[in-house]
Amino acid sequence: MTIHLIRTEGFPEDQFHELLAFLRKQVGILQFVGGKTVTLNPDYTYHIFLEEKAYETQFKPRKQINSHFKASESSSDAIYEKPTFPLRKRIYSWENLLNAARAYRQFNQVPDSDLIFLLTDAHNTKNWFGGIDENMKNFFVHTADWPLFFRLLNKPIYPIAYEILAWVLRSLMFKSREEIIDFVHDEPVGCINDFCSDKKQIILKMRTGDICDECMDQIIYNDVSPPLLRQIQVILNEIRQHILFSSNRNVYLTSSRLRIDLSKRKLYFPDYAQEEAKLNPKELALYLLFLEQTNGIALNQVIDFKAELLENYKQISGQIKPEKMQATIDLLCDYRENELNITLSRIRKKIKDVIGKEFAKKYTIDLLANNQHGILIDREFVEISA
Ligand SMILES: [Zn+2]
Repeated sequence: MTIHLIRTEGFPEDQFHELLAFLRKQVGILQFVGGKTVTLNPDYTYHIFLEEKAYETQFKPRKQINSHFKASESSSDAIYEKPTFPLRKRIYSWENLLNAARAYRQFNQVPDSDLIFLLTDAHNTKNWFGGIDENMKNFFVHTADWPLFFRLLNKPIYPIAYEILAWVLRSLMFKSREEIIDFVHDEPVGCINDFCSDKKQIILKMRTGDICDECMDQIIYNDVSPPLLRQIQVILNEIRQHILFSSNRNVYLTSSRLRIDLSKRKLYFPDYAQEEAKLNPKELALYLLFLEQTNGIALNQVIDFKAELLENYKQISGQIKPEKMQATIDLLCDYRENELNITLSRIRKKIKDVIGKEFAKKYTIDLLANNQHGILIDREFVEISA
């Protein structure tokens, strides 16, 4: 089975080749072929995303699908900049995206049985990660914004590869596009067919790389060839390994526990060490501030959080002289002084000394993909006791 990958200009060429090389590594029935660059019909509307939440949510699937699905700017592969809201994006209809694949098929006389995937940074009307046409042979996959879901992931080839395989499998295990929409799991179970109405749920299924029992039954019911399924599973597993265990594994495994004892001013890392890191009041006050601010803070804007810092400091320090406390925090917040950097680096060192450089990365206050400073770990694993 031949799968043609084509792209629009906005999906960088080097990523395209890297993706292709990755998918070709597993020899099997699925053969991936690199196609040419195509241009979309300049027929789009604008959508204003007022806030991040809306941007990260997929527009709901309709159980009743009409025969037609009615219903950006490019990203660079360098540093991913987190969008600021409200955000205005060009939105293309599914038909427009799929037409690009159809036209390519016709012009290049691609056999009817081959699949064509359009890889594009263009946003689609339903805000989905990918889509399929009614004959189950033409597809699109969205290539931008992956770093929103996988922090620090500047080259999103693995999630894109995952999406391609997921759509290939769906096209084999279901008879129609409508059947796919009916079948997808609205509640995420960590399966390839989780719908992910909250787009962040994509992280779970890519980390498990799994196909649930219900889907496995459907795969058998629809006679998907076992070697083909095997090839897909092997690649999915490889993607999972890359997402979990690449050299950046710390970045992805952010579900590590952190316990903070405020009275002892100690940080405990139960997943990594028996020892703890002891911070001084100023360090801990700063650390707590960055824990509260999940999206991070630019270092020159720490000053905007002076009141919070002072409050944290008061709570921890046991210091009784208000002027002294104020002076300490003033100095810490002053971006022209070096106090903030020194304090950050002391915290960094204390954590590294306990759990080592690699694991420390997700606990220390460092530059995030969005150019703010922050702490990577999932806050739901943080426990603070007085
Ligand atoms: Zn499933």
